Amino acid sequence: GGGSEMKECEANVQVVLRCRPLSEEEQRANVQSAISCDDLKREVTVLHSLFKQADKTFTFDKVFGPKAQQRSIYDRAVKPIVKDVLEGYNCTVFAFGQTGTGKTYTMEGEMRQKASELSATAGVIPRAVRDIFDILEERKADCSMKVTFLELYNEEITDLLALEDQSRFPEDRQKRAISLMEDRKGGAVIRGLEEVVVYSASEIYNLLEHGSARRRTADTALNKQSSRSHSVFSIYIHVKETTVGNQELLKCGRLNLVDLAGSENIARSGAREGRAREAGEMNKSLLTLGRVITALVEHSVHVPYRDSKLTRLLRESLGGKAKTCIIATVSPSIHCLEETVVTLDYAYRAK
Ligand code: ADP
Ligand code: MG
Repeated sequence: GGGSEMKECEANVQVVLRCRPLSEEEQRANVQSAISCDDLKREVTVLHSLFKQADKTFTFDKVFGPKAQQRSIYDRAVKPIVKDVLEGYNCTVFAFGQTGTGKTYTMEGEMRQKASELSATAGVIPRAVRDIFDILEERKADCSMKVTFLELYNEEITDLLALEDQSRFPEDRQKRAISLMEDRKGGAVIRGLEEVVVYSASEIYNLLEHGSARRRTADTALNKQSSRSHSVFSIYIHVKETTVGNQELLKCGRLNLVDLAGSENIARSGAREGRAREAGEMNKSLLTLGRVITALVEHSVHVPYRDSKLTRLLRESLGGKAKTCIIATVSPSIHCLEETVVTLDYAYRAK
């Protein structure tokens, strides 16, 4: 009936919360923690009582407190999605939260993975890659894979995997400018984006490391660009299977792993949208993503995919049968309390 149908749809957007530990520096400075996590009850409590106000508790699909390991985040929140991708679905994992709360740590974690072994601090992306290769190997599946890695800043796409010499000649760069187009079915086609065919996990680790280093380099040049930019790492997987009746079945799945711009960009633009827009501060893609997800969980007729580049390029991986996992990240520090509440409110609305 209608009820169970709705439940099925709702299960397609999962929102999990991760609270990082206090850093060594914060501990040395005796920074107070203002967040308490109950992983079993899936609850996060904001200790407003420290300011003589009522505490506020939020429930999420899963809660990962400061002690949660990288492995547990992957196994419990992302692994089920990876299995879906191998069955031919498009899925997306987002890291969302204030700058400095562990989005990049959660998605990438410590770099320099050896092909055979993952370090304990490896994030979601290397773990997903490892898992995909392990599963396909075990199945002895006939498959092909390619990856793309892009950055979206001010509604402009930069290719994090493009050949280096591209940037040395501005004229060439013009010619190879990346544009986002649509095919007849409304799917996103990104013209000029490097698609790298890959055969092993270590190849992907190298690409990830290379692209990520580029993002960090841009940081120093452009004043913390990454706090306002989104990065999208996508793995396209084609699996050929032979059915019992000896028919060939091609399953095409896509996994997007998205490290979003800092959530402080929303708070800023929300407070004074008019001025923020003029100052170029407003993060159109971040705001639109919020609206798209709200529309999806509320089953609205109109989903405003077209209003930003990020939602246009993820369109086929959001809504419908596509599974989405939002990992909201927060800091436990009392100094971040205001931003933490903004993140929790925003993430809770997506539930
Ligand atoms: P963001 O990408 O959200 O700006 P980062 O991922 O860069 O934040 O994290 C900020 C700092 O906190 C980094 O030094 C990172 O290593 C550390 N960090 C974040 N989350 C954790 C965690 N769960 N455990 C240990 N260190 C963490
Ligand atoms: Mg980051």
